[in-house]
Amino acid sequence: MIVVMKPGSTKEQIDHIVEDIHQMGLRSQVIVGTDRTVIAALGEKRDGAKEALETGNGVERVVPILAPYKMASTEVKKEPTCVEALGLKIGAGRIGVIAGPCSVESKEQILQVADSVREAGAAGLRGGAFKPRTSPYSFQGLKEKGLELLALAREKTGLAIVTEVMAPEMVPLVAKYADVMQVGARNMQNYPLLEAVGETRLPILLKRGPSATMDEFLLAAEYILKTGNSRVILCERGIRTFEDHTRFTLPLATVPYLKQTTHLPIVVDPSHGTGKANLVSPMAVAAIAAGADGLIVEVHPDPEKAVSDGYQSLTPPAFQKMIAECRKVAQALGKKMA
Ligand code: PEP
Ligand code: MN
Repeated sequence: MIVVMKPGSTKEQIDHIVEDIHQMGLRSQVIVGTDRTVIAALGEKRDGAKEALETGNGVERVVPILAPYKMASTEVKKEPTCVEALGLKIGAGRIGVIAGPCSVESKEQILQVADSVREAGAAGLRGGAFKPRTSPYSFQGLKEKGLELLALAREKTGLAIVTEVMAPEMVPLVAKYADVMQVGARNMQNYPLLEAVGETRLPILLKRGPSATMDEFLLAAEYILKTGNSRVILCERGIRTFEDHTRFTLPLATVPYLKQTTHLPIVVDPSHGTGKANLVSPMAVAAIAAGADGLIVEVHPDPEKAVSDGYQSLTPPAFQKMIAECRKVAQALGKKMA
């Protein structure tokens, strides 16, 4: 349920409703909007709860939340959310770009790529230190050494570090280094992991599972939001279909769909979404045109020698060109792209 307070309701009235909600065994989330405050009452449906809250002082009306996801829904919060980490700003009219290699490979590689993507206009540096690889025999990442190299790159460039965490027990270690923690596509429905990353209060980049529906995706985000962490960025990274001319199928209609159903920002990953370097830039431009709040793109100084995902990685000059094209579209839409 959502308790919609009257414009100008007092702090005492709001606190009183929150207290009532807790006494009903429900959890509360106060959302202060531009013209009025709403309070979400979350938990098992209780007979009589709606009627009881409606009698509260300062209450205008009590409405049910129809969407299965509650805190992610635009029913609860209409204003778009902007998630920030250092200079990276994603959402509410700000387009943020995260770029970097699939995997952190060496000090030279990460520092070189960090410099070049910052120069081109990225505000976030991606790089996997713990890699979820399809084959157990493939490179698994530099692990903590990789995290240290990312921290060094942040020190030198000021870029926000975006890196993946694969298991709940690894969250404290990755959280020591990351500015944004990535939950990968394979882990979108790893519920203990979603709760553990939520507890850190760091921004979370949640990638869509390749076979997840929009409701499943938003309910996964809800697991993070339920911990009290509202800094969630959704990422469309392509789904599995019969199509095989691309690595995955990148459905850009999810961008406007999500804009209408959630206040959370949405970024698009055209690298994993296509799996082909020559398709990345056109799809990045299309993603911005569709209304995406950001991009996450794989960039490698020498894609042919990359230990993972070289075939879908842009060279620094190609990335620079991609950003220039995206900026034109962003400008036409009246958005600020760093
Ligand atoms: C990645 O970002 O390197 C990655 C493994 O992505 P995904 O989880 O989308 O496959
Ligand atoms: Mn990759």
